Amino acid sequence: MSAISRRRFIRHGAVAGGAAVALPALGGWAGEAFAAQPSPAAAIAGGELVKVTPGDPRYATLVAGANGRWKGTPDYVLVASDADQVAQAVRETLAKGLRFAVKSGGHCYEDFTTHSGVRVLIDISAMAEIEFDASRRAFAIGPGAQLGSVYQKLYDGWGVTLPGGTCPSVAVGGHIPGGGYGPLARSHGITVDYLYAIEIVVVDRAGTVRKIVATREHDDPNRELWWAHTGAGGGNYGIVTRYWFRNDAGGLDPAALLPRAPRELIISEVTFPWDNTMTEAAFSRLLRNFSAWHVANASADHPYARLFSALKPRHRSAGEFLMSTQIDAAVPGADALLDAYLAEIVAGTGLTYTVVTRKRVDWLYNVLNWPGLGGDGFEGKGRFKAKSAYLRKTLPDAQIKAFYKHLTRTDYDNPAALVEIAGYGAAANLPASSATATAQRDSVIKMLFVNLWATEAEDSQNLAWVREFYRDVFAATGGVPRPSGVNDGAFINYADADLADPALNTSGIGWSTLYFKDGYCRLQAAKTRWDPRNVFTHTLGIERA
Ligand SMILES: Cc1cc2nc3c(=O)[nH]c(=O)nc-3n(C[C@H](O)[C@H](O)[C@H](O)COP(=O)(O)OP(=O)(O)OC[C@H]3O[C@@H](n4cnc5c(N)ncnc54)[C@H](O)[C@@H]3O)c2cc1C
Repeated sequence: MSAISRRRFIRHGAVAGGAAVALPALGGWAGEAFAAQPSPAAAIAGGELVKVTPGDPRYATLVAGANGRWKGTPDYVLVASDADQVAQAVRETLAKGLRFAVKSGGHCYEDFTTHSGVRVLIDISAMAEIEFDASRRAFAIGPGAQLGSVYQKLYDGWGVTLPGGTCPSVAVGGHIPGGGYGPLARSHGITVDYLYAIEIVVVDRAGTVRKIVATREHDDPNRELWWAHTGAGGGNYGIVTRYWFRNDAGGLDPAALLPRAPRELIISEVTFPWDNTMTEAAFSRLLRNFSAWHVANASADHPYARLFSALKPRHRSAGEFLMSTQIDAAVPGADALLDAYLAEIVAGTGLTYTVVTRKRVDWLYNVLNWPGLGGDGFEGKGRFKAKSAYLRKTLPDAQIKAFYKHLTRTDYDNPAALVEIAGYGAAANLPASSATATAQRDSVIKMLFVNLWATEAEDSQNLAWVREFYRDVFAATGGVPRPSGVNDGAFINYADADLADPALNTSGIGWSTLYFKDGYCRLQAAKTRWDPRNVFTHTLGIERA
């Protein structure tokens, strides 16, 4: 193996250059500088509920989401700025018998808030406060708060953070109930491991709308409702109007109640060429090495728990693909650990990688300037389809073979088509499977199969590619990542409606098992109790028991 340094700026592509490309309205996979993405409803919200109808120039922005495949067509949008207004919006809408949905950050992969049946959209993106609530000894965060703001405020105020996702314009509203995770999961677990309480507007059997609080305290009669918000996904039980976060440490010092954020990271980005050196054997060894390393380095106690890496094999038409890695610069010997990691990943492949980036960078700067999936070829592509899988073991040869087949197909040439294989495990696996509704607690990798494109005319070929790719990878288990085997089901924050479509999921393993494993019964019981009229639902909605 040898590494060649190359001064080439592949991050951001046209975004960094300032070219006028058609990025999705709310940020997307090409990367984004956080400050450029304010909440669209923030300027509208006020002392009373605001109704925005289709004739209003603001309507188009409010009904759009991060996935350009979906645009809502509600009769109107209600913009709420506090919990009482949310309750009023729900009350008024129920009285009219209209179906509604709630939107916080608009980053849903599927059409949960934009489905044609949704007649009223309740936009709560302006409810974005982030503060320390001394009465609960916890950080109170509004559902509209975007992750970029959360990271900035927690870091600037207290030097702490939540181990959440990478895209800074994803909002807490939908991210948390889906078990949001990100690059700090190996060091600190996932966001819901710190969720202490929620305030939520629910509708009871009689149709009465009320605001309640559910905490993780064992004597809280609403504890199961808290539990349901640690992995069921958004839009199932009510509208969460506030989240509180803290660990179980005693004391009043806010800085001790959430994980300390790294101050500085060492970042590495290397690319692998899709040329004649990338034989099937070399590709297979690379993926096997990457997954085997994560199996072998799953301890939360080892310094490697503070290393996060993602290998992102793209379709061959991209010409190359990236592996991005970060390690907390404060780890003793961090540079040497990173070098040893890179050497292990390429060992025996015969491949030469190119160093695109190797630098120290402030952690906060890094999270606020998300590079996206990395590399050229994503800009202007606002439509996407994603599928996911947890991985517990080294990637089997048959799965890698399917990766290679679909990434080198010659009847498909989209450079923005890939599988992101992201490191997981370590601290994310410390809680028991039933401690939260995120049941997958012994996986070492999460995989995101995703492709992006620009126009509706390209939908069918792109949907077909990602569906065939996924079905082939998991052919041994009916075309889906069967839980508790090599794989462990799928991740609800990467919502994939195909799993609930009997024409596309013929495995005999239901979507609810794939997402929630044995926890589904508990989620159903909570549904029956707190949303008995099934007012809050969507394609992957929790069903009543
Ligand atoms: C570019 C991109 C990058 C991403 N990266 C990551 C990542 O690194 N890690 C990760 O875990 N996920 C990631 N996600 C997925 C993201 O966490 C989910 O899509 C999440 O549901 C988005 O929440 P939202 O509030 O922004 O979206 P919305 O579309 O507003 O909401 C999503 C769902 O939650 C419901 N919902 C929203 N607010 C509330 C509320 N207050 N109460 C109850 N239900 C609510 C909605 O009705 C909808 O069903 C990414 C998504 C995108 C598009």
